[in-house]
Amino acid sequence: DVLRQKRVMIMISDTGGGHRASAMALADALQELYPVHITIRDVWTESCPFPFNTVVKQYMWMAKHTWSWRMLWYSSKFPVTRWMMQRFANILCKRIFMKAIQDDAPDLIISVHPGTQHIVIKALKKLARRQGSKSRIPFVTVVTDLGSAHPMWFHPEADRVFVPSDPVKDIALKCRVRESVIEEYGLPLRRAFWNAEPRTRQEVRDVLGIRQLKTVLVVGGGDGVGRLFNVAEALGQNLQDLADTGGAQLVVICGKNEKVRKQLQAMQWPDAVHAHIVGFVKNMDEWMAAADVIVTKAGPGTIAEACTRKLPVMLSSYLPGQEQGNVGFVVDGGFGDFCSDPRTIARTVVGWLQDEEALRRMSKNAGEQGRPRATLKIAQAIGQKWLATSTSTLLSMLEKLLKSELNSGA
Ligand code: UDP
Repeated sequence: DVLRQKRVMIMISDTGGGHRASAMALADALQELYPVHITIRDVWTESCPFPFNTVVKQYMWMAKHTWSWRMLWYSSKFPVTRWMMQRFANILCKRIFMKAIQDDAPDLIISVHPGTQHIVIKALKKLARRQGSKSRIPFVTVVTDLGSAHPMWFHPEADRVFVPSDPVKDIALKCRVRESVIEEYGLPLRRAFWNAEPRTRQEVRDVLGIRQLKTVLVVGGGDGVGRLFNVAEALGQNLQDLADTGGAQLVVICGKNEKVRKQLQAMQWPDAVHAHIVGFVKNMDEWMAAADVIVTKAGPGTIAEACTRKLPVMLSSYLPGQEQGNVGFVVDGGFGDFCSDPRTIARTVVGWLQDEEALRRMSKNAGEQGRPRATLKIAQAIGQKWLATSTSTLLSMLEKLLKSELNSGA
């Protein structure tokens, strides 16, 4: 059993792009450090009944109709409604989670989603009771929100809770998570963000085939949510103000929002503005390294990634409740601002581009919030506790093997 490869199950729900991205980043870091077998599972979508199997679609709809998201977020924050929702989910789906856990047979479960906390711990406890075992499979939470977090993220019985920031740690403590199980390293990010960009901005621009001009990067979430079109259009108009200094460049990453991508690609841009409109990209690290400023919705992943690239951030929208804390993270961190009006966004960003001193200051502040090593640190902390095979264990195993060899020989 000691030699058996340890198995880790990472639980997510595919709402937004960030949770899967965090799960994949963690899997990558764990595999870098330990010989583990990892599965990433969205059990809600894979096998749960209606309405649970449609949460991803519901999330996408609600992200566009934020009043509905606000209602869900705040009603599920209220303890009585939260309890009722969890009870309903447990009755219909706990067995399905138990089956998924039995199928994967993990030694450890890592949850990177608020929706895979309570139900998973319940399932684990029931499985342990069934097997007559006093201890259940260990359960670790890695919070992938940045400036604040919904109470559903926190279960007092989690064996370890990794938080990205002080405000999230305070919420965890309020939700009765013991201080001794909380660790703070930052948000898990993809491998490309684990190190500083070794190339200069000019070199990266050459690699990407874009011009050596002041560059604004506009990014939707993984799903391209946010008012990309209006923001990009307004920026296009205002960047014309940089005509005297050779013009400017606008890169719009539309994510999976094909409709906006086509609309923007068909658009006539002012003469001095060089626009690059792309769909979903895998090299976000390079686009960020090539830019002077990023305009994005307040997604935690995108903000944390921008910090590792020392990029000033203009936030154009946020999901009520969930992403509100991320606005504070950027504004209080002194590396950006929030504004919902596209024309004001465009005016402000162009103002930044014309003020080298402001750009330098915000870039420095962004860098101070960057936690490029977070993913490896989280993986190491998890691995040291649950995945590493210690030298003494290996030696005693060798001893056992030798003894049994000798016995069988005799
Ligand atoms: N992203 C990407 N390519 C794209 C658009 C987005 O890799 O074309 C990534 C982005 O870098 C970030 C994630 O998608 O890692 C979005 O996560 P975030 O937490 O910012 O927002 P969410 O979509 O989860 O609300």
